[in-house]
Order: sequence, then C-alpha cells, then structure tokens
Amino acid sequence: MPLTADLTSADLNEIRQSALGAADPLGVAADLAHSAEAGRLADPQDAGLALSLAAEIAESRSKFDAAQRYADAAVTAYGDRDDSPAAAARALRARILYRSGRADEANALVEPLRPLLTRYPDAAAYVTAALAVGGRARDAERWLTEAVQAVVAERGVTEPADADDAGVLFFLLQQRHRLRHALGLQHDTHDNLAERLETRLANANSGAAAAPATDLVFWPRAEFDRLAERTDAYGATWDEHRASLEQELVRQTAAGRTGLALLPGSVDALTAQAGIGGDPVSPENRAGYARALATGTARIAWPPERNGACWCGSGLKYKKCCLPRSRG
Ligand SMILES: [Zn+2]
Ligand SMILES: [Zn+2]
Repeated sequence: MPLTADLTSADLNEIRQSALGAADPLGVAADLAHSAEAGRLADPQDAGLALSLAAEIAESRSKFDAAQRYADAAVTAYGDRDDSPAAAARALRARILYRSGRADEANALVEPLRPLLTRYPDAAAYVTAALAVGGRARDAERWLTEAVQAVVAERGVTEPADADDAGVLFFLLQQRHRLRHALGLQHDTHDNLAERLETRLANANSGAAAAPATDLVFWPRAEFDRLAERTDAYGATWDEHRASLEQELVRQTAAGRTGLALLPGSVDALTAQAGIGGDPVSPENRAGYARALATGTARIAWPPERNGACWCGSGLKYKKCCLPRSRG
C-alpha cells in the first residue's frame, strides 16, 4: 500500500491483516511509525494503534530493538488514555521487554493491567501473551480465573444462553480454557462452560441442529463415584452432575430440539477409549468417548413422565428427583 495519503483507521485494519504476508514487513512497520510520528494519520487518535502495529510486525521478525522503540512510542502516544487499545499497547510493550530480558520493567508495566481484564477482553489477550512470554503462564491463569469469577459474580448465577449473551465472559472463558489446556490442567466448571459455549457457537455457525454429545453423557451413581476420584469435569457431586444434565436438556428443548436422550457412560469403556498409557479423563478422550457414545444405541430417552421413574436411576419419581433440578 502506498503511504502517500493520510492513513485511515480502515487502512490500519487492512495493514493488520496483510502486513505479515507483505514482501517487506519491516518496511511497512517503518512506514507506519513514520506516518504516526509525522502526524500523517487521518485520525490522530490512531497514532498509538499504528505504532503498536509497527511493534508487532517488528517483533514477529525478531527485530526486538525496533519493536521496543515502536512499542515505547505507542505507549507514549496513548498517554494517560485508559481504554482497551491503550491497555493492549502497555501489555505489548511488556511482552517485548520480557523478550529482551527486562523482566522487572515488564512486571511493573503489566501488574496495573490486572484489574482491567474484566473490562477489556481484547487487552486481556495481550496481558496473557505477555505473561506467557515472561514465563508467568501460571500467573496469567490466575488472573484470568480472577476475572472470570468477578464477571460471573456480577452476572449472577444464570448460565449464559450463548456466546453473544456471555459477552466479555465468553472471551475470558475462552482465553482461560486455551491457556489451561496449554498448561495441561484438568477441566473445571469454567472450562466446561467455555466448551459448552464454544460448541454452541460452532453449532450456530454451521447451522447444525445436532445436539453436542459431550453435554449429554450421563454417569450412573456408581460410575460417577469411580470417576470422581479422577476428575470433577462432570460436576463436584452427583447431584451437580444430574442438575447440569437436566438443565442442558431443558435448554436444548427450549432451542427447539426433540428426541433428546442421555448417553449413559461407563468408566471401563472410557478407560478403554484412552488406550494403554492414555489419560482417560483428558478433555480429548472424554470428547472422543462422548462422540462414540452418540453413535451407539445405549440411550435413556428424556424426558420421562412426571410420575414415571426418573431417568437417573434413583428409583424416585421424575417430578420428585431430577425434574426440579432444572430450576436450581
Ligand atoms: Zn477443553
Ligand atoms: Zn433423578
């Protein structure tokens, strides 16, 4: 792109998409920085953005000195602005400082961003990346957990209907989920929620009507107790497990799905699915097992009659057992 005219915000976006594939990305970065510093931007407010972009391009080419210069200039351009792009620029600067071994300066820069994660999910991605580069991925996981908990507390107990409804929470959950997989951590209830929302988003995008099988695996009492020694991915207690299934089925009904059924699981089959040396309770194996169950014939039709035996096998009437759990 010839940089003869003042750069607009749309130009910057386009450069963001195309710069890394450009013949001379470092030339693009230098032009961006020059445009920002010479006041050749259609919107002077974009100076920080142009310089951040220049820094990211230089960083991607391992030109850390240039990247540092651009990132410093970006933070200066933002001044005391306290919005998402400004926070992202500070995190980017910290990331490049970490790369240059200047951990103390990076730590000082990134720490004040911690309480901002709930407000600026885009900047949160930069903060997470900076901490990971600084060898502080565990801290990033803690910060994201803290942010997720704060947003959940603010929203109240209602489960978001979909990714749109979850808003900021979805972005935070997703980042946390990815990071925790990278760290090899087991799924917790937030990861389960992240996966449910991701599945729903994927289903909505593909227009597929199929119910996500992972949400419908049911562990009968004895199986659940065996599994509970290995993972709490299906809920901390059997009551919690049954409640989340009942709630999921009610949600799927509300979404217009019919012919719903629970897929009863067995720990032996889950273990066999993992193979020798495999981790039966890894998210991948659990998802694979759920898919296998979904193609099989073992299923418990839902819902039962109100006065009929409950689907969970407790021996109680449905209306006295799992039916009310959807309201909890
Ligand atoms: Zn997962
Ligand atoms: Zn029941």
